Amino acid sequence: MAEARTNGNNISHSILSVRTINDKVFALRFEKGSHSFIPGQYLQIGVPGDAKKRAFSIYSAVTDTFFELVIKMVEGGEVSGPLHELKPGDAIEMEAPAGRFTLDDQLKHKHIIFIASGTGISPFHSIIKSNPKLNYTLIHGVRTKADLIEPEAYAPEKLITCTSRDTTGQFHGRITRYLTTHPIDKNAEYFLCGNGTMIEEVKEILAQNQIAAQQIHTEVFY
Ligand SMILES: Cc1cc2nc3c(=O)[nH]c(=O)nc-3n(C[C@H](O)[C@H](O)[C@H](O)COP(=O)(O)OP(=O)(O)OC[C@H]3O[C@@H](n4cnc5c(N)ncnc54)[C@H](O)[C@@H]3O)c2cc1C
Repeated sequence: MAEARTNGNNISHSILSVRTINDKVFALRFEKGSHSFIPGQYLQIGVPGDAKKRAFSIYSAVTDTFFELVIKMVEGGEVSGPLHELKPGDAIEMEAPAGRFTLDDQLKHKHIIFIASGTGISPFHSIIKSNPKLNYTLIHGVRTKADLIEPEAYAPEKLITCTSRDTTGQFHGRITRYLTTHPIDKNAEYFLCGNGTMIEEVKEILAQNQIAAQQIHTEVFY
């Protein structure tokens, strides 16, 4: 049962499924209860009885009747590890959706360029699925093709995969090298999400290309 138990800000939600995405990433689906959210927001979740919680961007769309998150199993991770042990019917504790990494209505007519490393693709999946008419390009950086996260969810002509470790992606190299070897759309709106170093380096490249700070939106995962 959704919201079966509350403890302060914590609300207990029942897990519906745990899907393997690739050998390091899984998708955790659980009951949404009466919560609404804006695509791009995150949830703080943890296992019941453990005060430790971590933020995870919402992967599912606003129209979905459940919440889904994609979670990387971080080696030695205090929360991602225990979350991976959970099974359908088990409970997780969550706080209400939060965050400002969202797409304002007045930007929806623009070309939106989403740039993600690893699970940083999660909020973009929610934004894209919730806004089917969006004019977007999604640049996803991973180590190899095996690390991609459901690439079939996007129109092939809108997805650019950059693989740093081998040539299995469309572009061999890091996101930063892709950007320095391809034209930069000066009128687009840029959303960057994932690893903090990638975000800082991409911001620098965009600034060198006269992209205004107001055109750049960021969410650092770690
Ligand atoms: C707003 C926000 C949204 C987030 N959304 C997501 C999401 O959708 N999916 C997701 O998987 N994570 C997401 N994260 C990261 C997540 O909150 C945790 O940091 C991550 O799951 C590790 O937590 P842990 O308790 O398992 O590891 P910890 O015990 O806290 O950390 C162990 C070590 O792993 C490092 N680390 C953390 N994340 C990663 C990573 N992805 N790759 C490599 N090393 C890492 C930490 O810096 C630390 O040194 C988000 C973070 C923020 C701030």
